[in-house]
Amino acid sequence: MIAVSEILEKQVLSRQDIIRLLSITDKGDQELLIKKAYSIKESTIGRKVYLRGLIEFSNYCRKDCYYCGIRSGNNKVTRYSLSDEEILRVVELAQKKQLTGIVLQSGELNSEDFIKRITALITKIKSATDPEFRITLSLGEQSLETYQRWFNAGAQRYLLRIETSSEELYRKIHPDNELHSFNVRLRCLEYIQKAGYMAGTGVMIGLPFQTIENLADDLLFIKERDFDMVGMGPYLEHADTPLYNHKDLLMPVTERFNLSIRMIAVLRIMMPDINIASTTALQSIVPSGREAGLKAGANVVMPNLTPLKYRRSYLLYDNKPCIDKEADDCLECLERRIKMIGEEIAYNDYGDSIHFINRILIK
Ligand code: SAH
Ligand code: SF4
Repeated sequence: MIAVSEILEKQVLSRQDIIRLLSITDKGDQELLIKKAYSIKESTIGRKVYLRGLIEFSNYCRKDCYYCGIRSGNNKVTRYSLSDEEILRVVELAQKKQLTGIVLQSGELNSEDFIKRITALITKIKSATDPEFRITLSLGEQSLETYQRWFNAGAQRYLLRIETSSEELYRKIHPDNELHSFNVRLRCLEYIQKAGYMAGTGVMIGLPFQTIENLADDLLFIKERDFDMVGMGPYLEHADTPLYNHKDLLMPVTERFNLSIRMIAVLRIMMPDINIASTTALQSIVPSGREAGLKAGANVVMPNLTPLKYRRSYLLYDNKPCIDKEADDCLECLERRIKMIGEEIAYNDYGDSIHFINRILIK
C-alpha cells in the first residue's frame, strides 16, 4: 500500500489517493494530512479566519428531508419567522461587531410572497449597510428567475449543499417525489452559478448507507463543478426524523468527526483557494471542533446570531451547541478560541473566495 507521505507529495490526487487519505486510521498519518492541508491554507490564504453572522430567520419548510429536524413532517416543531425589523437588528449587531457579512438561512419556501419578501429584505439590508457588506443566502431550491432576482437585489453569495453526489444515496435520504429530486438539485446548483453568485455547496459526512467511495466522489464533484465555497460537516441524527431508524448503521460520532476533518483537509489540498467553512456540526461533537476544522484547512466560521428565543426551534439535529447563548457571548468565545490556535479574525477583509475572484478575472 502506498504511504500517505508519498501521496501528499503528489500534485494531483487520483480517486484512489483520495480514498486512501479518507480511510486513514493511523494517528500519525492523520497528523501528516492535516499539516499538509494547513500549510497550503497558510500559503494561499494565510492564518486568517473570515466570520459571517448566521441568521436562521425562519423554520417554515415545504420539504421533508429524512435527516432534518425542521422538516415539514415534524409537527413537534414550533414554527417561527423573524420580522424584517428583527432581522435588521441582527444585521446592525453584525456590523457593530465588525462582521463583514451575514448568511440568511431558513427552511425552503417558494411562494411568490416569500420571493417578494426576500427581495425587499435584501434591498433593506443593502440600504442599512455599507456597499461592500456581503449577503449570503441559504434558502434552498428556487427557479433561475428567483436566484437572478435576489442576486440583482444585492445578494452576492448562495449556499446549497448537494448533500451527497450519489443519486442512489440521495434517494435514500429523501422522499421519493418531485419535491426532492436529485436532478432538480443539480440544476439549481447550475442556476446559482449562472446567476453570478459566489457559489457554495457541501455534503453531510457519515450518513447511513454512505461509503468512503461516495465521499471521494463528493470531493471530485465539488472540484469538477468548480465551486467557490464549501460547507460540509458530520451528519448528526435527530430523534424525530425517519433516518433515525437507521442509527444502528452509523459510525461512532468521534469517527464521523475525524472523517469530517479528513474531508476538509483533502479538499483543501485539492482546491487551495476556495473558502471552506468549519461547521457548527463539528462543534457539537467536540467543543473545540471548529478550531480543529480550521487547523485542517478551513478558513470560514459562521457564528450564530439568531436571537436566543428562536434557537431551540431551529434544531436540524440533536445536541446543537450554543442554543442558550446570546450572540455577544458566542462572538467573544469564538474570538478567544481562534486566538488560541494562533489565527486571527480578518475584520477588515470581505473574504471573497480567491477562487471566485480568479474565476471572474479569467472570464
Ligand atoms: N433549507 C435550506 C437551508 C437550511 S438546511 C437547505 O436545505 O438548503 C441547511 C443544511 O443543514 C442542509 O443543507 C443540511 O446539509 C444540513 N443538515 C440538515 N439536517 C442535518 C443533520 N441531521 N445533520 C447534519 N446536517 C444537517
Ligand atoms: Fe427543509 Fe433544508 Fe431541512 Fe430539507 S434540509 S427539511 S429543505 S430546512
